[in-house]
Amino acid sequence: MKLLWILYIKLLLLASINALPNITSCNSLGLIDKSKILAICETIQCNVSPDSQVYYPLDLNYSSTISHYAISSTNFSVCSVVPCTAEDLSIIIKIIGVNRVPFGIKSGGHSLNPGFSSTGGIQISMQCFSQVNYNPNDETVDVGPGLVWDDVYKQLQPYNVTVVGGRVVGVGVGGFLLGGGYSWKSNQYGLSIDTILEYELVTPNGTIVNVNNQTYPDLYFGLKGGLNNFGIVTNFKMRAFPQGQVYGGILLYTVVVINDLVNAIVTFQTNNQDPKAQILCDFTSLANSFDINIIAFYDAPTAPPNTFDVFTSILHEGQLETQSYLSLVQASPVSFTNNMR
Ligand SMILES: Cc1cc2nc3c(=O)[nH]c(=O)nc-3n(C[C@H](O)[C@H](O)[C@H](O)COP(=O)(O)OP(=O)(O)OC[C@H]3O[C@@H](n4cnc5c(N)ncnc54)[C@H](O)[C@@H]3O)c2cc1C
Repeated sequence: MKLLWILYIKLLLLASINALPNITSCNSLGLIDKSKILAICETIQCNVSPDSQVYYPLDLNYSSTISHYAISSTNFSVCSVVPCTAEDLSIIIKIIGVNRVPFGIKSGGHSLNPGFSSTGGIQISMQCFSQVNYNPNDETVDVGPGLVWDDVYKQLQPYNVTVVGGRVVGVGVGGFLLGGGYSWKSNQYGLSIDTILEYELVTPNGTIVNVNNQTYPDLYFGLKGGLNNFGIVTNFKMRAFPQGQVYGGILLYTVVVINDLVNAIVTFQTNNQDPKAQILCDFTSLANSFDINIIAFYDAPTAPPNTFDVFTSILHEGQLETQSYLSLVQASPVSFTNNMR
């Protein structure tokens, strides 16, 4: 009975500590209070170059550095840091490491899991790493993690090349390329990770390394799906592929045809043998409506006859047409569900 009583008091104490506004996070090293994190934010601020920024909750730029696609993934960090050079990021990660502060690394913020790229500690936002450099000599593209895919395609369009990247608007380069990456081009060229030749990486101890199959084969392998477990990536060197006009678009359906549509999806996925043909389907419940859409993609200006007939033969709105790769990616309506759970 006495033991139970002690346990009860301990639980009460623990609950009251957690309720204190000053306590933001708990890790294996114990509770870290906000004032300590704030002091570390200030230490970072006075150690990084003027290129990089530290923002606090009342700053105008703060919200863009912490916001996520799903509102449930957004966390209010004590400060957010926006490194603009690998050297500054190295300084930041050393300070965070020495002080054992909770932190999160965010590129596009499309992770749906709270705590994967958000934190109540120090948010590192990669938004400043927004480079897209096409190198025609070796047919590669240097891509920064802080971009979204539609911006990458926009910048590559004048060169008639693309990379194996995201399929819809708004998805971030960083997490996508570290998690796998299923692209409109994947049936032809593999996952995005299969087309990355080199990473610029800031390791957990702050060392800046160029990781490729020759320099660090283990790390190179680990980064192909390893997300944030091996360091923070500041540049991806990717293979470039030719990109001309494509055929496709978005077809919209109501719930009335759901059974026909589900059968059509199964038929298409079972029978399609053409790696240039692909679909993406969304079942979206918004307020009182329930909508279904199919984005159809064919990697050429026209598709062979009948390629998407299973979908166009069902009552729908919208049409399939020849267009640029960028415009097909921009056709996706995923931004309607921005800021929801
Ligand atoms: C609407 C929508 C559409 C999607 N479409 C596709 C699709 O077509 N194909 C597909 O494969 N996936 C798709 N995804 C999944 C998407 O690829 C992942 O959610 C991906 O992690 C998003 O990357 P991000 O940079 O936006 O995410 P973030 O939330 O910023 O990051 C995700 C993870 O990567 C880590 N990370 C981010 N940047 C770095 C970095 N520079 N260095 C180290 N670690 C880093 C973060 O810490 C976090 O763990 C989609 C997701 C959504 C919400």
